[in-house]
Order: sequence, then structure tokens, then C-alpha cells
Amino acid sequence: MPKEMKSMSEITVFHKILAGEIPADKVYEDERCIVIRDIQPQAPVHLLCIPKEFIRDVSSISQETDPALLGHLLFVASQVARNEGIESSGYRLIFNCGEDSGQEVPYLHLHIIGGKKLPSLG
Ligand code: AMP
Repeated sequence: MPKEMKSMSEITVFHKILAGEIPADKVYEDERCIVIRDIQPQAPVHLLCIPKEFIRDVSSISQETDPALLGHLLFVASQVARNEGIESSGYRLIFNCGEDSGQEVPYLHLHIIGGKKLPSLG
């Protein structure tokens, strides 16, 4: 199997959204990532910033991973938060990683959550 081909078990919902095979409410797109609205929002604003290049999760980041891509995801998150009107009230950015975090989709994505007072993590 060519390296770029994925087995069926590796194809996630985000692969399908990026391929245009299933619809998503896309609020932003550039050459490196998309931002969509979460289908089960946990707050008035709940977005997912997804790189176009597949990375399974934070644990999969290696020396070969482009650090500029990771920085870009954070930059885009800040810009989208501004556009959504939650910059001044504040928001939370989350990368879930692995089973205990509750990660459901094994494709790196950055949650952007705001628009209400979020529970303290402390
Ligand atoms: P995580 O638990 O960090 O893996 O988060 C995965 C997120 O993807 C969850 O918040 C889901 O609600 C969201 N999600 C799953 N399927 C879709 C979809 N088709 N469109 C938008 N968000 C989705």
C-alpha cells in the first residue's frame, strides 16, 4: 500500500470533512488548516481547528513535524476567536490527547471554546 494511502481504520471523520465527503460548517480555511463548528457544541462558540496535514495527536508530534504548522494553528485560533467576538471575554484552547483525555477523533484538532464562563480547571 502506498505510504499516503490509509487503511479504513485510519480514516476519520476529519479526513472525510477535509476531502469534502461529508459536510461541515466551515468558518475559515487556508492552505494549512480549516476551522469548523463542532457538531455537539459545549459552549456558545465551539470550533475545531484542523490541520490539512494528518497528525494523529499531540503524542505523534516529532522532530519531523513542521513547528510552523503548529504555531499556525494557534495563530488561526486567535484570529477566529476575534472574529467570533470572544476575544475580550476570553476562551479556552484544548488539544485532547489519548484515551484519558476523552479524545474521540484520532486526528489532531484544536478546540476553541468560549462565549460563556467556563468551569475552572483548578
Ligand atoms: P475530541 O474528543 O477531542 O476527539 O473531539 C472531537 C470533536 O469532534 C467532538 O467535540 C465532536 O463533537 C466533534 N465532531 C465529531 N464529528 C463531527 C462532525 N461531523 N462535524 C463537526 N464536529 C464533529
